[in-house]
Amino acid sequence: MTSATTPPLGQKLTAMIKPCPRLLVVDDHSIHAQALLEIFQRDHDVIIASSGAQAFEICRSSLPDLIILDAVMPGTDGLEVCRKLKTDQDTKDIPVILLIAWDDPEAETKAMEAGAVDIITKPINPAIGRARVNAHLTLKAQSNLLQSLAFVDGLTGVANRHRFDEGLEAEWRRCRRLITPLALLMIDIDNFKKFNDCYGHLVGDACLQEVAAILKGQIGRSHDLLARYGGEKFVCLLPDIYFDGALKKAEAMVQAVRDRAMPHTASKTASVVTISMGVAVTIPGPDRQPNALVSIVEAQLHEAKRRGRNQVCGQELAGYFSNSLK
Ligand code: GH3
Ligand code: MG
Repeated sequence: MTSATTPPLGQKLTAMIKPCPRLLVVDDHSIHAQALLEIFQRDHDVIIASSGAQAFEICRSSLPDLIILDAVMPGTDGLEVCRKLKTDQDTKDIPVILLIAWDDPEAETKAMEAGAVDIITKPINPAIGRARVNAHLTLKAQSNLLQSLAFVDGLTGVANRHRFDEGLEAEWRRCRRLITPLALLMIDIDNFKKFNDCYGHLVGDACLQEVAAILKGQIGRSHDLLARYGGEKFVCLLPDIYFDGALKKAEAMVQAVRDRAMPHTASKTASVVTISMGVAVTIPGPDRQPNALVSIVEAQLHEAKRRGRNQVCGQELAGYFSNSLK
């Protein structure tokens, strides 16, 4: 185990800017569309639509990174298309640049009011067109990065407490609606204070990263959520799983951390790093709040510690839908 490092922000941003971003050009004049293709095709993957309807169809199958839209088109004009894109949940965050005539002073205001991020005047100056498109692609990548950082734990790279709190509320509501169980696992590294005292805080950080990676490797389904709850505690939210399944998953996590055999000579429990876990499962009903699950899982984790650590203790919460729990 080496000491912890996380990639600098600049590196993360570079990784988020695609080498060949996808541009959707919407223009009813094929000559204008062809001109735009020639300006952007060297550095971008350009798709052309000749109407608003075609643009929506393309967005439904695969979202572009940026849209260049002619403001004046027959049928649904560009301003209307832009407004629609900005009200649709799937497309509202895609930057739209409106193409307007250079001699129409009101068009710029109308474009901005319709939700465009910028305008380009016709006839297009290729260098200005490329510069504006690239500036907005970079801004979008920065905004995506900030958004993802707001939900990620900086040290371990797993979800943070804020993301967990939101996930718990959302899964609680979903499982309640579908009358399906929701499992919460709480994980705590055993004797971690002694680990820091013995090996130093930086190696402690690396240990946290390693444990997070092991736990992440144990959750296979895309809708399962692993988060750092705080300090050396993690939580795992597993929807659609019954008590026996959740217990098995927890046992596998405890074993996986033990099997990694990270030395911990100061541990009172074993000579390697171990974890203790609490498990709580319920079918959410109207008679309780998500916090009930958190309280039970904390009590179960406490019980696992009391019984000697390096083990799992769990409880299923009977309640409104208790007959459905298997
Ligand atoms: P137990 O087996 O009962 O859980 O004992 P413990 O020593 O693990 O628990 P305790 O709450 O006494 O100590 C937790 C330690 O976790 C103390 C704190 O310094 C350490 N810790 C919390 N967050 C971090 C972190 O981000 N990095 C490092 N290196 N240590 C951390
Ligand atoms: Mg601990």
